[in-house]
Amino acid sequence: MKYPCEMVKDVMPLYYDDACSEETKRIVEEHLEECVSCREVLKKLKSSTYEMDLAKEREEVLQYHRKNVWGRLSEAIAVTMLVPLVICLIVNLATAHTLDWFYLVLTGMAVVASLVLVPLLAVERRLLWSFAAFTGSLLLLLFTCNQFSGGHWFPLAAAAVLLGLSVIGLPVVVCEIPFRGRIARNKGLLVMLIDTGLLYLLILVCGVYAGTAAYWKSALWITTASVAFVWVMFGIIRYARMDILIRAGICCILGGIFLSQINALVHWILEGVWKGGLESINLLVWNDSTVLNANINFFLFLSCLLAGICLLAAGRKRKGTKK
Ligand SMILES: [Zn+2]
Repeated sequence: MKYPCEMVKDVMPLYYDDACSEETKRIVEEHLEECVSCREVLKKLKSSTYEMDLAKEREEVLQYHRKNVWGRLSEAIAVTMLVPLVICLIVNLATAHTLDWFYLVLTGMAVVASLVLVPLLAVERRLLWSFAAFTGSLLLLLFTCNQFSGGHWFPLAAAAVLLGLSVIGLPVVVCEIPFRGRIARNKGLLVMLIDTGLLYLLILVCGVYAGTAAYWKSALWITTASVAFVWVMFGIIRYARMDILIRAGICCILGGIFLSQINALVHWILEGVWKGGLESINLLVWNDSTVLNANINFFLFLSCLLAGICLLAAGRKRKGTKK
C-alpha cells in the first residue's frame, strides 16, 4: 500500500462527506480496494451517521407531535373552562344584578387551570410553575371564600395551607430551581429554614386568634422543643461526616429518647410537673393511664435503642471492612 492506514483514516470523514479534493479521493479509493481494515472504518462511519440522522429525525417528529398535541389539548381545556365561566358570569349578573359568587367560580377555575393548563403551557420547569400557580390560586380562592362568607379566617387558613404545601412540595420544587454555589449545596437547609419559618408564622397567627398568655407559653415551647429535635436529626443526617449506618443508628436512639419522653415534656411545659416519663414505668401495673403510657413508651424506647445499637454495630463493622 502506497499510503499508511493512519493517514487514510484521518481523511476518511472528509472523503465520506465528499469534502476532499479529487486527488485525495482517488488515493483513498485506491487504498480502500486493498485494505480491509479501512473499509471497515468507512462502513462504521456510514452506519453511525445513518443512526444519528435517524435518531435526530425521530426526535424532531416526536417534538413536533408533542407540541402539536399539547398545544391543541391546552386550547381545548382553555375553551372547556371558558364556557362555564361565561355562563356563570351571565347567570350571576342576571340573578343578582352584580358579581358575587362568580368570583368563587373564577378562582376555583384558576386552581384547576394551575393543575391542568400550566403544566401543558410551561416550556420548562413545569413543576415549579405549576406549584407556584397552584399555591397562588389556592390562596386567592381562600381569600375569595373568606370575603364571600364575611369571615376573618383567611390569615389562619393561608398560614396553614402555606406550611402544608411547603412541607410536601418545597423539596421537589427546590430541586427544580438551578441554584448556584452555597445554596446549591445546602438545598435541604434552605427547605428546613423556610418550613421552620412557616411553622412559626402559623403559631403566630394562631396566637393572634387565640389571644391568651397561656397560649404563647405552651405553643412556643412545645413547638420549639419539637422543632429542635427535627433540626438535630437533620443536622446529623445531612452534615455529620460519618457512615450512613452510624448516622441512622444515632438518629434511631435519639428518636427513641425523644418520642418516649415527649409526653412528659409537654406535661412539664403545660403544668410545670414532669409526669409520665421513664420514672413512671412500672411493668406490673397496666391499669393506670399514666403508667400505661410510660410502659408503652419504655418499650418504644427499648425498640429504638436496640435498632440503633444494631445499626451502629453494622456501621462500625462496615467501616472496619473498608479499612
Ligand atoms: Zn488501511
